[in-house]
Amino acid sequence: MRQLIAGNWKMNGLREEASAIVTPLRLDAADLACDLLVCPPFTQIMTVASILAGSAVAVGGQDCHTGEKGAHTGDISAAMLRDAGATWVILGHSERRQDHHESDSLIQAKTKAAVAAGLSPIVCVGETEAQRVAADQNKVVGGQLAGSLPPGFAGVVAYEPVWAIGTGKTATEADVAAMHLFIRETLVKQLGPAGETIRILYGGSVRPANAGSLLAVPHVGGALVGGASLKAEEFLGIAKAAT
Ligand code: PEP
Repeated sequence: MRQLIAGNWKMNGLREEASAIVTPLRLDAADLACDLLVCPPFTQIMTVASILAGSAVAVGGQDCHTGEKGAHTGDISAAMLRDAGATWVILGHSERRQDHHESDSLIQAKTKAAVAAGLSPIVCVGETEAQRVAADQNKVVGGQLAGSLPPGFAGVVAYEPVWAIGTGKTATEADVAAMHLFIRETLVKQLGPAGETIRILYGGSVRPANAGSLLAVPHVGGALVGGASLKAEEFLGIAKAAT
């Protein structure tokens, strides 16, 4: 299975910046051994999708609503993401779980809506620092998987320890190995043999310098990259480390 390197731009990227990031990706992606995805803010999806049209780089959103359309001021539906040129969507990122109080059941409903609209979902899970200190990480992540993934889930899961996101702190290879094995076993229990084929991304301060060792850990199916996805050279450096 090819690894997936996904860039989460978060609330970054005006038109010129977006074009400066993706133009070099367009040229280099064809030679990569991994799948490449960029998830810009909603306002840049159409621009980015048109620059990347016909290339090997996919485009995704960072969230979607549960409904198809209607009276939901400020929200974006999965069908709108599709219409703008996205084929993927990140759901349940810890920043949305924290800032917007998103629950597992809401994330599950969003995941169903994304799949119904033809998008591939990346569902994020991960424990906070306090939960890791209390050795509760498996309980927390197990609960998030049970609550956020709909029956028959066939998308991607991203393990992102909250304490490693945007902090420069990376989980150790041993911690990543233990958690990715736990997630794999949980997916198989939850989804049956299909759980073996789900890519499990690691996210949390991935950089070109640490990507090779993190991506070599068993059951790591790629990376979800925040800060380093805002510079084409760094993002490509991570992608080149993928196997
Ligand atoms: C993220 O937000 O998904 C992320 C992993 O961020 P960073 O790479 O900046 O830690």
